[in-house]
Amino acid sequence: ACLDEIEKKDSTLHAFLETDEKKIYDRVKEVENGIKAGKYTGPLAGVPIAVKDNICTRNRKTTCASRILGNFIPSYDAEAVRRIESAGMIVMGKTNMDEFAMGSTSETSAYGITRNPWDTEKVPGGSSGGSCAAVAADEVFAALGSDTGGSIRQPASYCGVVGMKPTYGTVSRYGLIAYASSLDQIGPVGKDVSDCAALLEASAGYDAKDSTSVLRKDLQFTRYLRQDLHGVKIGIPKEYLSEGLDEDVKRSLADAVQLMTKNGAVVEFFTLGLVDYVIPAYYIIASAEASSNLARFDGVKYGYRAEEFEGLHDMYKKTRAEGFGEEVRRRILLGSFVLSSGYYDAYYLKALKVKAMIKKAFDDAFLKYDMLIAPAAPSTAPAVGSSLADPLKMYLSDVYTAGVNLAGLPAISVPCGLDSSGMPVGLQFIGDCFQEKKIIQAAYAYE
Ligand code: GLN
Repeated sequence: ACLDEIEKKDSTLHAFLETDEKKIYDRVKEVENGIKAGKYTGPLAGVPIAVKDNICTRNRKTTCASRILGNFIPSYDAEAVRRIESAGMIVMGKTNMDEFAMGSTSETSAYGITRNPWDTEKVPGGSSGGSCAAVAADEVFAALGSDTGGSIRQPASYCGVVGMKPTYGTVSRYGLIAYASSLDQIGPVGKDVSDCAALLEASAGYDAKDSTSVLRKDLQFTRYLRQDLHGVKIGIPKEYLSEGLDEDVKRSLADAVQLMTKNGAVVEFFTLGLVDYVIPAYYIIASAEASSNLARFDGVKYGYRAEEFEGLHDMYKKTRAEGFGEEVRRRILLGSFVLSSGYYDAYYLKALKVKAMIKKAFDDAFLKYDMLIAPAAPSTAPAVGSSLADPLKMYLSDVYTAGVNLAGLPAISVPCGLDSSGMPVGLQFIGDCFQEKKIIQAAYAYE
C-alpha cells in the first residue's frame, strides 16, 4: 500500500531520492520469515519507514542530497537504522533534504525540491522535508530525520505531522553524516505522538561507537502515553511573542493554551532571556563545526572528484567548488572565518560562552516549570522559491528551535491548528534534559 502511494504521489512531491522495489520486497520476505520465527515480536515489525538521506544505509546510496556524495554507498548501517531494522521495520527508501541538512525548506538539495503535500506550491520545510512530506502524504507510516537547529520540528510543523528531537546523546549519531556534531540528533517523525514515542524507543540506546552517547535507563517512552495534564506547570517565553510571529500562529498558540488550561495545566508567561542571541550563536557554532566536518570531502576517499585538474590542490579546489552547492559553500566560508586565528576568540569562543549562558537560562526556567511551549516556527510553510534569495531571513526563522539544540534539550512538535489558508501550524513542547517522558505525556494529552 505504501509503494502504491509512493508511485501515485512521489513524482509530484519528490519526498524520496531513492526507493528500490527489489530491496523492499527482499526485506519484506525477510521480515515475514523473522516474524514467523519469533525474531521480530514488537509492534513495529513490518512497519514501513523512510530514512533521511544523511543517515547511512548499508549497500544503499546515501547522498546528503549533495553532488559531492552522489555516488556514495556506505558499507555499514547507522546505529539508528540497525536498531529500527532489528525491531523489524522496513526501510522503504531515502528521503530528500537540504544539502548536508543546511537549510529550512528542502530547496538546497542538489537533486530538486520536495513539495508540501498540503499544497504543492508550498515548501515542506527543512532540512528533513522529505521525511515529513513522506509521512504527511501516507507514503510511509514513520520516518527518521535529523535535527541540528530545528530540522525535524520545523518541517513536521509545516507538514502537519509530529516530529521530535530527543535529548542530545539519546540516539546514536554513528552513521549520521555530521553537520554540527555538538548539536546533531537523529529523531522520529510520525503521524501522532504515540508513533513517535514507539519509534524513539526503538531507535534510542547507548552506543559505544558514538562518544557522546548517554547511558540511560529510562527509554521506555511509550509508558508515558497518558491523557493527563493536571497540575502540569508550563512556561511560555514572553520574547517568543514579539514581532515577527505570524498572527495565525499566535492565534493557534492562544487556542492551545486555552485548551491546556481547561485540562488542568497551569500556563504562565515568563522572561527566558538571551533569545536575541540564539541565532547568532547557533549560526557561528553550526558553521564552524560544519566547516571542520566537511573538510573530509576532498575527492580522495569517497564521493565526487572533478574530472580535470592540475595537481592535488587544484583537484581539491575544483572538486569542492563543483561538488558543494551555494548554501554549503556559504557555511564553509563563514565557519572557516570564525575559526581563523585572530577571529577565533571574537566569534567562535564568544559563541560558545553564549551557548553556555543560553543553557543556564533554560536550566533556570526548568526550576519553575515542568516544560515550556513555543511555536515551532514564526510562520507556516512559505511558497516554493520565496526563501532562498534572503538567507539571513531564513536563518532568523529558526529562532524557536535552535536554542533547544544549543541547550541539548528534548522537544516535540505537534500539529495545533490551521492558518487562514488552511496550512498546518505546529506547537513545540520543550523539556529539560532527559525529561522526554514529561513532554511525551503532555503532547499526547494535548493532541
Ligand atoms: N535551518 C537550520 C540550518 O540551516 C537547521 C538545520 C538543521 O537542523 N539541520 O542550519
